[in-house]
Amino acid sequence: MNISKLLRKEVSNLKGYVPGKPIEEVKKELGIDNIIKLASNENPLGPSKKAVEAIKKEAENINIYPDAGANLLREKLAKKYNIDSAQIVMGNGGEEILKMIPHTFINPGDEAIMADPTFGLYATGVTHMGGKLVRIPLKNYKHDFEAFIENINDNTKLIFVCNPNNPVGNIMTKEEIDYLLKNVPEDVIVVFDEAYYEYAIKNPEYPDSLEILKTRPNTIILRTFSKVAGLAGVRTGYALTSKEIAKEMSKVKGVFNASRLAQTAAIAALEDQEHIEKTVELNYQSFEVMYKYFEEKNFEYIKSNSNFVFVNVGMDSRIVFQKLLEKGIIIRPGYLWNYDSWLRVSTGTIEQTEKFIEILDEVIK
Ligand SMILES: *Cc1c(COP(=O)(O)O)cnc(C)c1O
Repeated sequence: MNISKLLRKEVSNLKGYVPGKPIEEVKKELGIDNIIKLASNENPLGPSKKAVEAIKKEAENINIYPDAGANLLREKLAKKYNIDSAQIVMGNGGEEILKMIPHTFINPGDEAIMADPTFGLYATGVTHMGGKLVRIPLKNYKHDFEAFIENINDNTKLIFVCNPNNPVGNIMTKEEIDYLLKNVPEDVIVVFDEAYYEYAIKNPEYPDSLEILKTRPNTIILRTFSKVAGLAGVRTGYALTSKEIAKEMSKVKGVFNASRLAQTAAIAALEDQEHIEKTVELNYQSFEVMYKYFEEKNFEYIKSNSNFVFVNVGMDSRIVFQKLLEKGIIIRPGYLWNYDSWLRVSTGTIEQTEKFIEILDEVIK
């Protein structure tokens, strides 16, 4: 059956997100049990135990709709960040925030500037609304802000800064962000995707985007509980922005987009600073193990301030991906972003990281 004539024309232009291969699928396909997934930047320590306990309790109440405004959670976040809760919009994961932004702002023909490669969902949302993508290739593996600025025109509505950039893992520094903002008109919305914020702040050069928001209301900061808090499975993320923008974005959000389980888990995770600290510490230890090996092998890699690393193993990533998979290791192959000999590998426990290295070493021989 061909339904192409029925489609909204922008939908025919969409590619569909390619998620990391699920563990269950690999188990079924290959009949192996011991699978290490280093493909989706999940927390190798698991979720906060406090969040799990809170979900167990809340499970008794799932016959009741959640608070559509997620007021208690937003108040807790407001307190944490010292802002007004009216500046916060909850999403069904950060991904929904990335949908709401173009749904709120993009008219057909409006332009959105972003790096190439960067997180794929910016392009999806903008394309869906009939916006035009302006993709700026990385320069020295970083956002090329000079080219971003050259490409701003009267149609520019959005600028996406993925910081740290997925799939590369590195940050744009405070100085670089200042340079960008000096050259962006006030009425262009700048989105800072800070999905890896808690890892990135270990780098003293990481910008303070909340400080930027204070003087630049057309700013949207995205953060999520999926990565450091280990709550990817319950779907909760949020935007920090001006009250004016939050009000408009809230009109297009899924009404009950933050489920009871998500809200309760997020509140508990906010209070589990110890889990976050342990996670971040392990993350950088896992990097040390990987970097040491990459250096021995003379592999080019990008120093990361996220929870994954981008590395050039000098071989077709399709083949490396497949061979690793057969040995129970799931990573993301670089060909997905036209970096054919690169891999994106999430940090794991030290044991998982060592296992990955051991098997990679066999595979590339
Ligand atoms: C993981 C991620 C997100 C959001 O993920 P959710 O699970 O939807 O919260 C947003 N941006 C980037 C760059 C990410 O890597």
